[in-house]
Amino acid sequence: MIVVAGSANIDFVTNVERIPAPGETVLGEAYRLVPGGKGANQAVACARAGGQVTFVGALGADPFAPLLRESLTGSGVTDATVEVPLPTGAAFISVTQEAENAITVASGANAALAPAHLPPLDGVTHLALQLEIPLDTVRAFAAAAREAGTRVVLNAAPMRPLDAGLLALVDLLVVNEGELAQLLGQTEPGEPLAALDRVLGLGPSAAVVTLGAQGCAAAWRSGAEVRSLRLPAFPVVPVDTTGAGDTFVGVLVAGLSLGLTLPDALRRATVGAALACTRPGAQPSMPGGEQIDAALAEPVGTGGGR
Ligand code: ADP
Repeated sequence: MIVVAGSANIDFVTNVERIPAPGETVLGEAYRLVPGGKGANQAVACARAGGQVTFVGALGADPFAPLLRESLTGSGVTDATVEVPLPTGAAFISVTQEAENAITVASGANAALAPAHLPPLDGVTHLALQLEIPLDTVRAFAAAAREAGTRVVLNAAPMRPLDAGLLALVDLLVVNEGELAQLLGQTEPGEPLAALDRVLGLGPSAAVVTLGAQGCAAAWRSGAEVRSLRLPAFPVVPVDTTGAGDTFVGVLVAGLSLGLTLPDALRRATVGAALACTRPGAQPSMPGGEQIDAALAEPVGTGGGR
C-alpha cells in the first residue's frame, strides 16, 4: 500500500499568442480546467500503473475540490484529502503555440496541509512526497514514515533548500537535472553518476535523476557498495512532455510497492513516462499498467507504442 501526500491544484490553461509582458494584457482562447498538482498527478500515475494508493492533500470548500476528488477516485486512488478554510490550490497557465508557458501558482489550501493530516501508516510500504506543500509538513510526514518502517520517496520538486535532517529520512530521492544541480549548489549538474554519488553522501540511500529524452540515471547503496545504472529513454515521438516527471515518479513507486527491484521499477517508469509524452496533458496522458507492461514486453525496435 502506498500513500502519496502532496499538492492538488486545478489548472486553468489558456492558449495565447504570446506570454504577456509585465503590465500587458493578452487575449487568449477559452480556458480549460485540468486537474493537476504534483501530488495528485503522482497519485493518479501510481494508481493507473497498478499501485494501491491513498492520496493525502488539502482542498478548499469550493466547486474545484470535487473536480479534483473525482479525478483521483476515477483513477482508483483512495481519497484521504482534508478540507481547509482556504481556496483549493490553482495554477494559471498560459501556453503559446511554440509550447512556451508562464505559470502562476496560488497554493491556497496546499499551504495548510499540516503534520496532523497524515493518516496512520499501518501496512503502508511507501510514502511519496514532493515539495509543493510546507517543508515542515514534508519533514513531519517523512519522520512518521521512518518511525513506521515505511520507505520514503521524495521527489524534490520544485527544489527548495533541504536540510540534512530531512535528507537523512529519505530512502529514495528523485530529481530532474535542474533540481540535481540546485541540490548540489551548482549551475550545472555535471556527469549524472558522479553527481548522484555526491547526493548519496547527503543522506538518501538511493537517488535517481531524470534526464528528459536522455532517460535517467540512478545510484544506490547495497551494503558497503554503491551501485549505479544508466537507462536510455523509451523511444517515442513526444507530443507533450507535461506530466512526464510526475508519471515517472508515480510508476516508479507503483513498481517498488509491487515488489520490483529498483532497476526493474526504473525500466517500467521509463516506459510509463515515455507513453505519457505521446498524449497531451498531465493526468489525461498517464498510461495504465497493462499498457506499460505491453510496451515493456515489446522487442526493442518494433516500433509499437511510438
Ligand atoms: P521533468 O518533467 O520533471 O523535468 P524529465 O523531463 O526529466 O522530468 O522527464 C522525466 C522522464 O520522462 C524521463 O526520465 C524520461 O524517462 C521521460 N521522458 C521525458 N521526455 C521524454 C521524451 N522526449 N521521450 C521519451 N521519454 C521522455
